[in-house]
Amino acid sequence: MNKAERERSRIQREQIRKRNLRIVKFLGAGVLVIVAVSLFASALSGFASSPEEENTSSGQLNISVGSSSVSVSSSPTPSPTPADPRLSDPLLVLVNSENPLPEGWHVTPKTIAGEEQVDESVYDDLSALLAAASEDNVTLWIASSYRSVELQQEILDRAVNERVSQEGMTEEAALEDALRTINRPGYSEHHTGLAVDFNDVSDDFEETEAYQWLEEHAAEYGFVQRYKKSKVAITGIDNESWHYRYVGKEYAQEMERLGLCLEEYRDYLKNGSKSA
Ligand SMILES: [Zn+2]
Repeated sequence: MNKAERERSRIQREQIRKRNLRIVKFLGAGVLVIVAVSLFASALSGFASSPEEENTSSGQLNISVGSSSVSVSSSPTPSPTPADPRLSDPLLVLVNSENPLPEGWHVTPKTIAGEEQVDESVYDDLSALLAAASEDNVTLWIASSYRSVELQQEILDRAVNERVSQEGMTEEAALEDALRTINRPGYSEHHTGLAVDFNDVSDDFEETEAYQWLEEHAAEYGFVQRYKKSKVAITGIDNESWHYRYVGKEYAQEMERLGLCLEEYRDYLKNGSKSA
């Protein structure tokens, strides 16, 4: 090999080396693109099949198999019933053992009949009810109405202590027993400012003329007996002849006509007022 040949050979090797380098760079970039695309695709399919995104009510069921997503459609797809606007009416607010007082609930307390307080939305109808009872020579007074969460805690603590000290119950049994008629703080309808306990808050109230009068007239003034004997299984609260809830005249009269307690009435509205 002479000098010229060696030089040519060197140039060829150099050209081959450069070409190989270009191929390696090209392949490397291609691999990067493939990795990026597959990462993106798996992120997308992961997102589509995450449990939070599943919407079974629309008839769509996303089943995740490995990193791919299979969509199964059931037909016909039911269109969701638009919610009855009455369900968000504050007068129909549901506060029970499963539904705490809604956050941001606002009471404007107004003093009635001396020292008790109710929300101002109740004031006029409750005043009229008390006046009408008085006119009919029926003795009716408000024993308890609006209660803050703090006051409810005091009432519950007192009831538990009484059962422990006077009846020798264990703390646990006393709490369980007390919760049969006293709601957990935050879960009492009295927090709404829309509930009223009448007279001596005792089972004997059911035998009084005042109770008979309320049975006949409460709905005319927008009140319903909230916890009835026949509804214990639904409300989870023992019969309370003395506890009335203000829902306004229109709802009270419809609930009475249909024979529904508040839980049932809300379900009735949810179902598009179809089943009673
Ligand atoms: Zn009550």
